[in-house]
Amino acid sequence: TREEITYFGAGPASLPTTVLKNASSAILNFQNTGLGLAEHSHRSALSNDILATTESSIRNLLSIPKDYTVLFMQGGGTTQFSAVAYNLLGYWVQGQLDKANGDIEVVRERLKKARMDYVVTGGWSQKGSEEAKRLFGEEKVNVVTDSKKVFGRYSGIEEEKGWKRTEGEERIFTYYCDNETVDGVEFPGFPRGLEGGVVAADMSSNILSRRVDVSKFHIIFAGAQKNIGTTGLTIAILKSSILQTQPTPTTLRALSLPIPPIMMSYPMLAKHNSLYNTLPIFDVWVAGEVMKGLVAAGGLAKQEEVANRKAEKLYAALGRAPGIFKVVPLEGARSRMNICVRAQPAELEGVFLKGAEERGFLGLKGHRSVGGIRISNYNSITEASVDSLVQYIDEFVQKNA
Ligand code: PMP
Repeated sequence: TREEITYFGAGPASLPTTVLKNASSAILNFQNTGLGLAEHSHRSALSNDILATTESSIRNLLSIPKDYTVLFMQGGGTTQFSAVAYNLLGYWVQGQLDKANGDIEVVRERLKKARMDYVVTGGWSQKGSEEAKRLFGEEKVNVVTDSKKVFGRYSGIEEEKGWKRTEGEERIFTYYCDNETVDGVEFPGFPRGLEGGVVAADMSSNILSRRVDVSKFHIIFAGAQKNIGTTGLTIAILKSSILQTQPTPTTLRALSLPIPPIMMSYPMLAKHNSLYNTLPIFDVWVAGEVMKGLVAAGGLAKQEEVANRKAEKLYAALGRAPGIFKVVPLEGARSRMNICVRAQPAELEGVFLKGAEERGFLGLKGHRSVGGIRISNYNSITEASVDSLVQYIDEFVQKNA
């Protein structure tokens, strides 16, 4: 039964049981309308209400400034890899065009040297950079730092003074992944050197786990299936100027640049209040219910405090047995959300996972690309669950030391 297990999977992740209980009745008969929520029109008053309430909760939680737009989208984080590059390139092109008083030849020249900067600290930022290369050509992407080259694997974040950034106006934008889900690497805070620039961040696996100064970003995006809600919903938080400063398809064609597919056009989705096409309102509602819970529990200051404490307890337990457990990422870059560790000798990993399963601790196997053990410590994991897992880790160490 649900009571007998704790799911530490990396995403889709577990959701609060009360939210799911309410969801199970909402999907059958929403607010006594006789119709389930997934059956209601996305353009009904009821759906509009859900959109507005959920937007207001995320604005409240993240203190999103007024000049930012919140979009509810589909397609997961992966769709945003493309959307971010299309829209921020558009923003740059139109900005340059405005500066050049509409002279497209000037922009054509500037475009030749312009680069998209990608900070590659793990598998997901790497995938983001690969998509930009695929869409716009290898030569348009500048990899600012590549942790695999610096550390031999995705286990740390190079000091910013070693980053090779594109200078000045030739830099179209900088992209980074705030928390690398597979590798367990998280930025401790906003990278100082990026201050004041056009920055996009993937926060799919740590959004709503700490406070964020949204005003430092042009784009923050997150797939919902870890800390927000159900798979199928993706949230994009955008500085509104991006929406207002975009070239026409004719301009893009004249510059031999690709035109963003309509579903990745932020201005189009914003113009239609996220309802350009059929949005899964049920998923928006689930996200709203999760956020309602977070607001009631004290908002992100509280969430941050709890997340930090849970992560400290887990790292401390693993640190008590350096002969058995080796945390993969280096100190200073260790994720509070995805704790990636290897056991040695390697056979112990299977023993650990099997014992965990017997105790109802599920989803602890590392990502298939890297192996090992990964403890995902999202908001829905209670401190009591972490305490039980810590107890198991301690017992396991005693038995195998
Ligand atoms: N970014 C991060 C940080 C992720 O963890 C994931 C998925 N685990 C993605 C992007 C891709 O998201 P999706 O599967 O929703 O496309």
